[in-house]
Amino acid sequence: MNEIKRVLIVGSGIGGATAAYALRRVGIDVHCIDIKPESSSAGSGICLLHNTLRALDMIGLAQPCLESGMRFESFLQFDSAGQLLRSNPAPPSCGIRRPELARILESAAKNAGAVMDHGLTVESLNDRGDCVEVRFSDGREATYDLVVAADGAYSKLRQQVFGADCGPRFAGQSVWRFNAPRPDQVEGFCLYRSPSGRTVGSFPTSKDSCYIFYLETSKEPLRIPEDQAHLLIRERLAEYVAPAVREALEHVTEAKQVIFRPLDVTLVPAPWNRGRVVLMGDAAHAPTPQMTSGGGMAIEDAVVLAECLSTTTTAREALAAYSARRFDRVKVICDASFQLCQYEQQDPIGNREKSAALLLQTYQYLGQPF
Ligand SMILES: Cc1cc2nc3c(=O)[nH]c(=O)nc-3n(C[C@H](O)[C@H](O)[C@H](O)COP(=O)(O)OP(=O)(O)OC[C@H]3O[C@@H](n4cnc5c(N)ncnc54)[C@H](O)[C@@H]3O)c2cc1C
Repeated sequence: MNEIKRVLIVGSGIGGATAAYALRRVGIDVHCIDIKPESSSAGSGICLLHNTLRALDMIGLAQPCLESGMRFESFLQFDSAGQLLRSNPAPPSCGIRRPELARILESAAKNAGAVMDHGLTVESLNDRGDCVEVRFSDGREATYDLVVAADGAYSKLRQQVFGADCGPRFAGQSVWRFNAPRPDQVEGFCLYRSPSGRTVGSFPTSKDSCYIFYLETSKEPLRIPEDQAHLLIRERLAEYVAPAVREALEHVTEAKQVIFRPLDVTLVPAPWNRGRVVLMGDAAHAPTPQMTSGGGMAIEDAVVLAECLSTTTTAREALAAYSARRFDRVKVICDASFQLCQYEQQDPIGNREKSAALLLQTYQYLGQPF
């Protein structure tokens, strides 16, 4: 049994909530906090790839995701008019709405006995070597054997403990996202290719819903008037006459339905701990979304961290094993995602074959044990 018996997880996103559950399963007391007042994950969709489903299955959570979302195994490419260009098999994946995934993970953690506190953050912490003293934003104080920073790509804890150098940088693209009712055509991971090299993507998030995304290249991070997002996305997708895209756009009538953000990337060098504070998920590694794997890597981190804590005796051993098992694998995914992002920026049409080959190779890599 490891000396770590009581853990604070900061952030209850995909990584933090999975870790809260995975650590409870191996008998560790978990307190998980989130700065957001209530459990609410912004409403877009997420693709759980084959490796992510395998990691979820290892802790018994794949089935509820498959029941709420929609499984698919095809990769479909269309032209901008909606004519099918190519249909390829894809690794078994599940599209799901983010709030649904958040509900499944958080209720699993709560039911397993994790204490989940919203509207709370860390004011200060003091790593004493054998424990970490924490002062919370509401003035409470507590002591933990380990603090897990699962507070996302802009992690304050990482900044505090690792310094500002590890912070994210702009990847040269911004993303537009929204949900829509699922047209019959969207039965796999779909890419709609326009003659100008633009690509709109979509995949099912349930039998009735789908998620649409569009990536836009720019030298500097794009700033848009957010109250105009619904009009701006229509302008950008004007050349698409594919019925599936047009129908989806008809449902976008208010700016708040569109989630827009510049893409930032980060990969913190190993080891991912300083003393008894350890990073996971986007706090340690935020890839661009081309491999649809950031959330999957966060889920794998959680599963591996729980395994390392349950199979070693000291904190030092467990955290060294965790970084050693995670870093190289995560780096392959971050590098591949960033390369795909570069291909799209440099020559989206000319690089399509290279992109397809890299995607396939990285899917195969993801299938390997972690
Ligand atoms: C456009 C796009 C598409 C994507 N598509 C996919 C996909 O299809 N598949 C996939 O696997 N991944 C995808 N990802 C990546 C995925 O969304 C992230 O990797 C994943 O959300 C990371 O989870 P996390 O828990 O580490 O961080 P987050 O989800 O960012 O959660 C961090 C949590 O910490 C909380 N927090 C922040 N600061 C504090 C603080 N100071 N104190 C307390 N709490 C705090 C936040 O409120 C939040 O709840 C995509 C990403 C983008 C940008």
